[in-house]
Amino acid sequence: MIIAIDGPAGSGKSTIAKLIAEELGLVYLDTGAMYRLVTLKVLNDGILGNLDKIIKMLDDLRIDIKQNGFYLDDTNVSEEIRKPVVSENVSDIAAIREVREKMVDLQRKFSESKNVILDGRDIGTVVFPNADVKIFLIADAKERANRRYKELVAKGENVKIEKIYENILKRDKIDSTRKESPLKKANDAIEVDTTSKNIEEVKNEILYIIKQ
Ligand code: C5P
Repeated sequence: MIIAIDGPAGSGKSTIAKLIAEELGLVYLDTGAMYRLVTLKVLNDGILGNLDKIIKMLDDLRIDIKQNGFYLDDTNVSEEIRKPVVSENVSDIAAIREVREKMVDLQRKFSESKNVILDGRDIGTVVFPNADVKIFLIADAKERANRRYKELVAKGENVKIEKIYENILKRDKIDSTRKESPLKKANDAIEVDTTSKNIEEVKNEILYIIKQ
């Protein structure tokens, strides 16, 4: 069983995917976190903007997705990958064809012989075009920025909502206009607008769709 949840930043994908995974006993894979791990590696290595070096780095990239977090070179970097500097650069890194090929490959391998729910931008269109259920989550950009702001403030980050809003709009633009696997709704995905719904309502709506 494969459930694909796609949609723009802050539409509620990861929150909902985690809850559905718990409810239905599925393994959850946050594919956005994988692009964030690559971005953190690029930043740590100081190779931002150097396409050749980024592609070369992919050969010995060591990322791991464990029950207790996301690992880069054996270090748990679950907190670092959510930092604004990663959010500011991740869409440019995710637009690189070689990066996407490698991540898609890892996502398919990770999902082999498992019941999984994956969230991302291209799960229903590229990674698993034959997924059993495809959901496309959307929400108003201001509301999405507001959600991200609250999450970051709760973690003690010193952030401005205007900057988060700008970053969300910028990522929406890069993600949906890039050449490689742009963010778009699969023809057979069901769209759910989460703007004025609470988590429980969205969760129930999606569980209802899955059980159809
Ligand atoms: O989901 P999240 O906002 O953490 O994703 C970070 C970025 O990773 C997105 O803005 C997008 O550029 C990229 N991404 C992607 N394809 C995916 C998941 C994420 O291009 N399947």
